[in-house]
Amino acid sequence: MTPRVRAVLAVSVLALLIGGVSLYTVLTDEITGTVRSTESSEFESVPMEGPDGGTYAFMSTQPGTDDVPVTYDPCQTIRIVVNPDRAPRNADEILDDALDRMEETTGLQFQVDGTTDADPLSTEAGDAGDRPPVQISWSDAEAVPDLDGDVAGLGGSTWVEEDGFRQYVTGIVVLDAEDLDDLGEDVTRTVLLHELGHLVGLAHVDDRDELMHPYGDLPDWGPGDLAGLAALGGTCD
Ligand SMILES: [Zn+2]
Repeated sequence: MTPRVRAVLAVSVLALLIGGVSLYTVLTDEITGTVRSTESSEFESVPMEGPDGGTYAFMSTQPGTDDVPVTYDPCQTIRIVVNPDRAPRNADEILDDALDRMEETTGLQFQVDGTTDADPLSTEAGDAGDRPPVQISWSDAEAVPDLDGDVAGLGGSTWVEEDGFRQYVTGIVVLDAEDLDDLGEDVTRTVLLHELGHLVGLAHVDDRDELMHPYGDLPDWGPGDLAGLAALGGTCD
């Protein structure tokens, strides 16, 4: 396939997921109160144990494996654009803080390139080499029906496959600013971290001591989360 065909394929994978039909679990729903998922296929990913205990699981794995994760390229800065449509007052600080924490825990580099008014669920088709930025949107259920009810956020990434190797090239995080406004700044940060966890490739785990538990309400990463984040990141050398 040409790079263009691969990129289009990846975008339709994301569209399928938004329709709720998922072969490749890369997008997931959250419900607040604490954070809870609506998906029935919740713990399909194979859970693994971290070196310091705890559990983690990957959203997507390489073909033929159940423990080699699909990741972003650690040699490329993950560029981000923000749709601030419903952004809370301290949105920039909350995002900067969460991205700093992601860089510390993964080794991946993030860079906010600016703002956009694009649809929160849009992904731009293009050549695989021309990676569209990750879009983080402060939105609500009126604009994004998937946020209806108690869903606080969505997060996930799209991979492309080349020569049998899969790599994330772009993704989305969508936050329900209306729900989060009621829950306060600390919970907003928690939900954002959890969604960024999905973005870089962590799946839910059935362990209340991890932030990636679907009801997770920890203020920060647990031991398994940290092990998974380290496996999904790395430095460029
Ligand atoms: Zn989740």
